[in-house]
Amino acid sequence: MNKPAEIRHHTVPMWIGGKAVAPAGRTGDVFNPATGEVSKKVGYADAKTVDAAVKAAAAAFPAWRDTPPLRRARVMQKFLALMQTSQKEIAQLITEEHGKTLPDAMGSVQRGIEVVEFACGIPQLLKGEFSENVGTGVDTHSLRQPVGVCAGITPFNFPAMVPLWMFPMAIACGNTFVLKPSEKVPSASIRMAELFREAGLPDGVFNVVHGDKEAVDAILAHPAIAAVSFVGSTPIARHIYETCARTGKRVQALGGAKNHAVVLPDADLEFAADALIGAAYGSAGERCMAISAVVAVGAAGDPLVKLLEKKAKAIKIGPGTADGMDMGPLVTAQHRDKVAGYIDQGVREGAKLVLDGRAQALPKGGFFLGTTLFDHVKPGMKIYQDEIFGPVLVVLRSKSLEEAIALVNANPYANGTAIFTESGGAARRFENEIQVGMVGVNVPIPVPVAFYSFGGWKNSLFGDLHVHGVEGVKFYTRTKVITRRWPHQDTPAPGFHMPTLG
Ligand code: NAD
Repeated sequence: MNKPAEIRHHTVPMWIGGKAVAPAGRTGDVFNPATGEVSKKVGYADAKTVDAAVKAAAAAFPAWRDTPPLRRARVMQKFLALMQTSQKEIAQLITEEHGKTLPDAMGSVQRGIEVVEFACGIPQLLKGEFSENVGTGVDTHSLRQPVGVCAGITPFNFPAMVPLWMFPMAIACGNTFVLKPSEKVPSASIRMAELFREAGLPDGVFNVVHGDKEAVDAILAHPAIAAVSFVGSTPIARHIYETCARTGKRVQALGGAKNHAVVLPDADLEFAADALIGAAYGSAGERCMAISAVVAVGAAGDPLVKLLEKKAKAIKIGPGTADGMDMGPLVTAQHRDKVAGYIDQGVREGAKLVLDGRAQALPKGGFFLGTTLFDHVKPGMKIYQDEIFGPVLVVLRSKSLEEAIALVNANPYANGTAIFTESGGAARRFENEIQVGMVGVNVPIPVPVAFYSFGGWKNSLFGDLHVHGVEGVKFYTRTKVITRRWPHQDTPAPGFHMPTLG
């Protein structure tokens, strides 16, 4: 059994067939974003390594598929208990590699653990339907069966939570799994694989390969993989969806976002500003459900921007492991520079720079950037159109709720959105007319709980089914409908017409 110490230093291994496998071939650096130093290396899988993981998963599939759901649920319950006792340790791995604050990392692991909790109920979730006497002496029932070897490809910003949206559901349903986490944050996945084995999961049911495009291409090309779940940026999500559709793999591909909060003049502006500050700058804006655009309606505009400026200035920025920090560094120097480039762009485009993240006193060494606030941003500007994925909040002004709804609906992304108001009628209209997958009413980050499903619309999700909840069960199973009759003396003579009730 690997001890966590082994994945804290040196080269992070793959996890294939129930054991840690030292990588052969290419490696990449894993940084500590708070110091800017390389803390460890990670191996990059090639097609051969991916094939070994898929073969292990394929070999484990028949026995796992036939393991009664109740037994699968018992393994899941033990995994749940181990995840609960290891929550802090996993959160520490996340803070070390991603940079987000420890309490934020703890919260994200908790949301992932809740999916494991939901997956413990799999016997109930897999129940089929039965109809007696659909014809004389004929009964029909439907059942859900696992699809086979499934793969998950995940982004850097939630090293445990996003993988946990996928593999517990897939495995509880009777599938086996190959996970390719982001190469920037590889350790949490390996620790979860160790814990799952400790919970009694048979070898080969859950495998982890690290790597970049080469590993992903090998997954997409592998004929033994039946289904692919992807979470990441929109261009890659679209590519994954199109490639899987061409090769007949089931696919759900979740993409990027530009999440709007609409603030009406009747809202409690102090409450709204507090909520928006956390939603915009928490996790340094590196959340797919971060609020990155505020649409201030009418008289809400000026006082709201004043409050946002005051609160954004007060944010404490520092290493995620230090007490009392609100925001840590960005994930890499390259990403920090890209986000800073958007601030330059916003100034060039003529938006009003209320607070400049480039000009703040910041800890030395790490990939830090301060909080930025732009006002009077227009829909044609790049800082509005692009997903910046950093601590940059843009404010647009709108004359009415109607105009605000039209603005949100014109955006090609449609992951999450929120409205701040005291008016039930306005909120109801917003819920009804807004073309976005997840909606909050006075709730800034409306991430659904594990027993609902998570997913956006439009360019934020390619595919038909969202992740976890009942849609997760649907994605990781396929239905079969069986119609049966037991022959007896009244067996009719051969018939050549379409059978009907008769
Ligand atoms: P990314 O698209 O760069 O990477 C995601 C995964 O794809 C990683 O595992 C990466 O190794 C792989 N990948 C990267 N480039 C590839 C290529 N050219 N070909 C094949 N595979 C490739 O995303 P990221 O930077 O890790 O994460 C941030 C993005 O993820 C943001 O756009 C964010 O909105 C999105 N995200 C979306 C959700 C959601 O639920 N919709 C959740 C979290 C993150």
